[in-house]
Amino acid sequence: MTLNISGLTPGIEAASSLDAELARLDLAGRLKLVASLGGRAVFTTSLGIEDQVITAAIGTHCPQIEVATLETGMLFKETVDLIGETEARYGIEIQRFHPEVADVETYIAQYGKFGFYESVEARHACCGVRKVKPLARALEGASFWITGLRRGQSGNRATTPFAEFDAERGLIKINPLADWDIDQIRAHVKADAIPYNPLHDKGYPSIGCEPCTRAIRPGEPERAGRWWWENDEKRECGLHVPEAAAPSLNSSSL
Ligand code: SF4
Repeated sequence: MTLNISGLTPGIEAASSLDAELARLDLAGRLKLVASLGGRAVFTTSLGIEDQVITAAIGTHCPQIEVATLETGMLFKETVDLIGETEARYGIEIQRFHPEVADVETYIAQYGKFGFYESVEARHACCGVRKVKPLARALEGASFWITGLRRGQSGNRATTPFAEFDAERGLIKINPLADWDIDQIRAHVKADAIPYNPLHDKGYPSIGCEPCTRAIRPGEPERAGRWWWENDEKRECGLHVPEAAAPSLNSSSL
């Protein structure tokens, strides 16, 4: 192993070196390498099937990596149930990060609880309150942010690297399944009997908040069921784009 980024400030150069090293390793090796670098590493899971693969690997090989989830208050019951089941299976704690009550109340007063159907601005504002702000708390002080992003999830994610510098958050983002396709994920889950969300067997390849997720039809892209009423092919919740590019509640409304 030639990499030595310990002592370096997270930046583009460090991320580039790490990206090249991670490309040579399998999933367990990738996680072990990140865990060995020092600094806090946090994996944020949505409990989706690829995230379950990462959680299983952390529980088995790298329990020092923290696991966190964003409990938005709008999740499917199946997703919430899977949090506890996964903790019990791997003997780990999945930290729950909730939105601030005052932020939710302000959102509802301004847009209505389900105002996110009415405009992209309102939808981004809801994701800002229920996801982006809690994520910022989950990542406070972290050097590495591990995610389940894969290149096959959407055209928008087709060039996902194994490691990239997140200048907005001042950390290195690690995508250890960037090169896995959905068939590999399913085969791995089956072989290791990893617990997964039963909604995946009902036409939901990508599962987010209940009001914003529908089953997809045969042939549709994996993320076609997320915010399906919007026309933008690049729709995301703001977690994986720079905050400056992700509209959220304007400061006067918070
Ligand atoms: S996915 Fe939907 S319900 Fe969840 S935070 Fe975003 S807009 Fe709100």
